[in-house]
Amino acid sequence: MSIKEQLINIKSSLPKEVTLVAVSKTKPVSDLQEAYDAGQRVFGENKIQEMAAKWEVLPKDISWHMIGHVQRNKVKYMAEFVDLIHGVDNFKLLKEIDKQAKKHNRVIDCLLQIKIAEEDSKFGMSEEEATALLTSNEFQELENIVIVGVMGMATFTDNLTQVRQEFKKLKDTFGVLQSIHERLETISMGMSGDYELAIEEGSNMVRIGSSIFGARNYPI
Ligand SMILES: *Cc1c(COP(=O)(O)O)cnc(C)c1O
Repeated sequence: MSIKEQLINIKSSLPKEVTLVAVSKTKPVSDLQEAYDAGQRVFGENKIQEMAAKWEVLPKDISWHMIGHVQRNKVKYMAEFVDLIHGVDNFKLLKEIDKQAKKHNRVIDCLLQIKIAEEDSKFGMSEEEATALLTSNEFQELENIVIVGVMGMATFTDNLTQVRQEFKKLKDTFGVLQSIHERLETISMGMSGDYELAIEEGSNMVRIGSSIFGARNYPI
């Protein structure tokens, strides 16, 4: 199936309130253009410089999401245009995003990445750490960022009971954090292999790559 056909299939299966982030990391600009021509406007990348290079050449009404782990020293390369940063997992990073956003007179939306997987390799904060951040005085002082939700990645496993449990945990954490920070509205969870499950458990933003663009040549 073509990118266009895959996209249309997936889109038609998603509930209306669920935002589809087309994860285009490692894929050439021509693939993104094909998805764009089929109506897709939200794209997710996990490398800042790759995203910036694509932003330069593609139509300017694309909404760019940074879904990967963010290095503080690279925030400046995306501050001008990024729409949503999914992987915020510490205050120092948030402070740098705020600083760079200010330079461009922008307010950048961010999600707190919550660790729900059992794998040590996955990043993210605990519910306690996220609570501490949202209630801290230094957080209140940041004017050029808004925390609008949470993001999480389930363990890479065939055990769907475990994956469902982890998604439930993220939904619970979202509820707890929302009670102290009303701006929260987005729950970014679910990828090609598990997005249906994620939606059943309350996701309203799914990040789908390989099911749209095909397998990547190298795993990232
Ligand atoms: C690559 C990636 C995805 C998409 O993965 P697929 O399995 O190709 O759908 C989603 N979220 C993050 C954070 C990723 O790095």
